[in-house]
Amino acid sequence: MSPRRRSSTASDPAAHAAAPEAADTAQQAQQLRAALERANHRYYALDDPEIADDAYDGLLDALRRLEAEHPELRTEDSPTQRVGAEPVSRLQKVAHLEPMLSLPNARTPEELRQWVTRMRTHLAREGIDDPAIEYVVEPKVDGLAISLVYRNGVLQRGATRGNGEIGEDVTHNLRTITSIPQRIEHAPELVEIRGEVYMSLHDFAALNERRAEAGESTFMNPRNSAAGTIRQLDPKLAAQRPLSFSAYQVGVSEGLELSTHWEALEWMAGHGFPVNRDVELKRDEEDVIAQCQSWEKRRGSLDFEIDGAVVKLSDLALQRRLGSVGRDPRWAVAWKFAPTTAVTRLQKIAWNVGRSGDLHPYAMLEPVHVGGVTIKLATLHNEEDLRRKDIRPGEDVIVLRAGDVIPQVISPAPHVAEHKRRPPRPRPPARCPFCDTETVKPDGAVFTQCPNRDCPERRWQLLKHFCSRGGMDIAGLGDKQVAMLLRRRLVSTPADFYALSEEQLLGLERFAESSVRNLLAAIDQSRQRPFARVLFALGIEEVGEVTAQSLASHFGDIDALLAAPAEAIAEVAGIGSKTAAVLREALDDDGMRALIAALRQAGLKFEQGGLAATDGPLVGKVFVLTGTLPKLSREQAAERVRSAGGRVSSSVSQKTDYLVVGDSPGSKLAKAERLGVAVVDEAQLLALLDH
Ligand SMILES: [Zn+2]
Repeated sequence: MSPRRRSSTASDPAAHAAAPEAADTAQQAQQLRAALERANHRYYALDDPEIADDAYDGLLDALRRLEAEHPELRTEDSPTQRVGAEPVSRLQKVAHLEPMLSLPNARTPEELRQWVTRMRTHLAREGIDDPAIEYVVEPKVDGLAISLVYRNGVLQRGATRGNGEIGEDVTHNLRTITSIPQRIEHAPELVEIRGEVYMSLHDFAALNERRAEAGESTFMNPRNSAAGTIRQLDPKLAAQRPLSFSAYQVGVSEGLELSTHWEALEWMAGHGFPVNRDVELKRDEEDVIAQCQSWEKRRGSLDFEIDGAVVKLSDLALQRRLGSVGRDPRWAVAWKFAPTTAVTRLQKIAWNVGRSGDLHPYAMLEPVHVGGVTIKLATLHNEEDLRRKDIRPGEDVIVLRAGDVIPQVISPAPHVAEHKRRPPRPRPPARCPFCDTETVKPDGAVFTQCPNRDCPERRWQLLKHFCSRGGMDIAGLGDKQVAMLLRRRLVSTPADFYALSEEQLLGLERFAESSVRNLLAAIDQSRQRPFARVLFALGIEEVGEVTAQSLASHFGDIDALLAAPAEAIAEVAGIGSKTAAVLREALDDDGMRALIAALRQAGLKFEQGGLAATDGPLVGKVFVLTGTLPKLSREQAAERVRSAGGRVSSSVSQKTDYLVVGDSPGSKLAKAERLGVAVVDEAQLLALLDH
C-alpha cells in the first residue's frame, strides 16, 4: 500500500507549472525537495494536504528525473529515496546513528550487587579506584523504544529500535504524537532523543471501548496496541490512537555539553520532552535496590504499564570508560519484575454454577509457573468474554497472575493465529453439570443459567457464602463441612443451620464431640451479627459488603427495604437505577421472602442496632477504601468512618472526598489521582477520626 492515495506515474502538467524555474539544477533539486517535504508534512502530520496527489506525483517525477540525470545531486534524505512511486508495502529501514543497545538484566538484589561489583572491578582495571558513583533509577515503561533525531532543532527522523543497528522509519506516525516536540528551541546542531512510545491504561481502555462499540476487534494489551499503531503505514490511523511518549536518554549529539545522565534528563525536560517525574538519583546500592523494589510494588497503581526499572550510572565520562560487552552496556542494568504472564496449554474449559444459577467458565491448564506460583486453574469471567477473546480448549493461551488477584486467561497465544485448523469454539453446556437440568439463557443475560433452585451446586454456593467471613462468619463451617451437611440433607437453606442439634451432628465425619459444641455455639453467636452482615449473607447477586452496609443504614430495617420501590433504592449512595431494579426483583422473589422469614424466625437481626452517626468529625465526607490496610480490616475501617459520621462508597468519583489506600491499591488510586481526590493512608485516616 502506498502512503499516497494514488501513485500515478504520468506527469501532470500542473506539477510542471508548479516546479520552480531555476537555472541552477542543484538549486532546482533542492527546491523540489523542499516542496515535497512541505507537502509531506501537510499530508502526514497536519492531515491537511495543500496539493493534489497528482501534483505531488508530478513533483516527485520531476525530482526523480533530475536525480537520474545528475546522480551527484541525489541525497540520502531525498523524498525520492523515501516515497517511491511504487506502492510502499513496508516501512523503510534506517541505520541508527549509534546502536541502540539492549540492557543486561538483574532479577534479584544479589544480581544487582554483582553488576555493581563487575562495574567497579572494570573501573579499577582502568585505574579508577573507588569512584563516587551516582545511579539514576527510572521506571521501565512497557512500550516501544524509539529514537528521534533533531537537526538544528527540527525533528528529522524517528525510528523504532529494530535490531539495535537498523530500525524502521516511523516518522510519519511519531509526528502525530502531541507530546513529541516537532521543533525544539535553543537546540544544538544535532541531538538524538531516545524514549518509549506507549499507551496509557485509561487511553487503552477507552480505545478498546470505542472499538468494541464500533464492532471492531479489541487490542490485547497497551504494548501491542502501541507497537501496532506506530508501525502503521497510514499516519491517519496512528493519529486516531492516543499514544504517549516518555524520554529517557540523550543519544548522539553535536554541540551539546552534558556531563551526567541526570543533567541529560533535566535538559530534555527543559526542552519540552516528557520525562518521568519519579526518576531518582541514588548514591548507595542498597537504596537503588529498595527503589527498584518500590517500583515493583507500585506497578499496579500506575496509569501505564512498566515491566521493570532501569539503573544507570549517571556520570557520562564513566559510562564511556566502561563501554559495553557485546550489545550490553556495562553502565546500565534493567531490574526485571517477576513475570506475571506465561503461556501454557488450555486443557479444558469447565463450568461452575454460582448461587444464582449463572454458569461461570474456568480454565483447566497444564500447570505453569507464573507470578511466583504454579497455577493450573484460571478464571475466564463469562461466556461473552470467552467468545470475544476467542479462547479455545486444546490451544496455548496466555495466563496472567498479577499480585494477589485470581489468575486469568487473557488471550490465545500469538502463534495460535497461524493454526490452519483451530479446535471448535467452546459452548456453555446444554445441561447443568451438577443437576443435569436443561440450561437456559434469558434474553439480554450475560450468563447461561441453571434454572433449578434445588441444584446442589447452587445451594452449596449459597450456603458457603452465608457462612463466609463477610457474611455470618461461622467458625467451623468451611466449604467441606457445608458440602457434607448438604449431602446428608441436614441443611438445604441457610435457615436450617439454626435448627441443627447435637444429636444430628455427633458421629458425622469432621465433627468430633468438642467441635460439635463449638460449632453450635458459633452458629448461635452469629445471631448477633449486625443487619448489614445479614443482608450481605442473603447472597443477593448485586449486594456486596459495601452495598449491604449502605442499604442497612439507609433503610434501618428489612421491612422498610422490602417495601421500598426501586426508585427509593436507587437513591442510596453507590446504587444506580439498574442495580436498584435488579435488587427490587431479587427481593420480591418468593424464595427470598421465605428465606428472610425463616431467618427472622431463627432470631437473626433484621434491623439496624443504632442509627448511623449524624455528628462526628467526618459528617458529610465520602470515603473509598482500597488495598490492604496495615492494622484495620476494611470492614473495621468502614465502621470507624461511619461511626464518625462519614460515608463509605465502593467506587471513586467526583463526589469522593478521601481515598484510603493500603497495600496493592489497584486502579482506584490512579482514578483518584486523576480526579484530584485526596489520598490518605491508614495513619492519616486515624488522625482524621481523632479530630
Ligand atoms: Zn444445576
